[in-house]
Amino acid sequence: MTKFGRVLVTGGAGFIGSHLSRRLLEEGCEVIVFDNLLTGSMNNISELLGHPRFSFEHYDVTNYLHVDGALDAILHFASPASPKDFERLPIQILKVGSLGTHKALGLAKAKGARFLLASTSECYGDPDVSPQPETYWGNVNPVGIRGVYDEAKRFAEAMTMAYHRHHGVETRIVRIFNTFGPRMQIDDGRAIPNFFAQAIRGEDVTVYGDGSQTRSINYVSNLVEGLWRLLGSDHPTPVNIGSEAEISMLELAKKIIDLVGSSSKIVYGELPPDDPKVRRPDTTIARTVLGWEPEISPTEGLERTRDYFVEALSKA
Ligand code: UDP
Repeated sequence: MTKFGRVLVTGGAGFIGSHLSRRLLEEGCEVIVFDNLLTGSMNNISELLGHPRFSFEHYDVTNYLHVDGALDAILHFASPASPKDFERLPIQILKVGSLGTHKALGLAKAKGARFLLASTSECYGDPDVSPQPETYWGNVNPVGIRGVYDEAKRFAEAMTMAYHRHHGVETRIVRIFNTFGPRMQIDDGRAIPNFFAQAIRGEDVTVYGDGSQTRSINYVSNLVEGLWRLLGSDHPTPVNIGSEAEISMLELAKKIIDLVGSSSKIVYGELPPDDPKVRRPDTTIARTVLGWEPEISPTEGLERTRDYFVEALSKA
């Protein structure tokens, strides 16, 4: 029996939040999801809606939060997270990272609940050390277009640590590196959905810059395993969860074209401002403290994701 009997997931109708909510149900938790559906979708949680231990509230967590009864944990996953959203929803991103985190921490304090913050590798900005250990403070442009997300999450980490130090709230912080899998929105503008959609439709595949910039891509079930382990751990400071398998965007585009069996051509576009040149986690803490290892390889994950996108596009 889990000690996290009743949990709140903010952003539980999003890509990662919905996979996490499902896992929490499997672990025996009662799961309450709050989501304003700005980038989340009811489709992501349709299979959870009938579950006797699942409930959903259409709610914007930048407002006062109220939950009747006890809560054992709050997992704060609400936030738009795609670079396209950084231009489209900058104020909402800043608000959910600041006001939303404050409200969720206030609720955790009131309920004596453990608090897990979904933070991000974006805290490292365009890093000048690689791989990035949790001790690296980052290289972020606060006034750039990406700054709205990076600084919101950095603020959220600072607020989380303040509640930990000042109020004794039990906190966990995960820095999530590029994660992919089924239920990503096909049009969210990120590299993996774009490349799959373009390859499946036989359109040109758009690589930004010369494609030499790298990311380390992690399949979503690996992340969820790490989240569950982190929640149950006693590690209050940030932990990187991500794959160490670094790949350039050009290689990734070619790999996806191959996996789809597409005849798409690669075309080059302008590199967005402040686009990180490298990104790769140092996962020593996840491995040693959580005993975490990614189980699904990037290739196997990409195959599963291809099947999801093929099906999603056939219905679109
Ligand atoms: N990218 C690309 N083509 C696309 C979308 C993205 O080459 O159609 C690049 C983007 O410039 C970045 C990388 O792929 O260098 C990963 O972008 P993504 O939006 O997936 O996430 P990020 O890691 O930048 O937050």
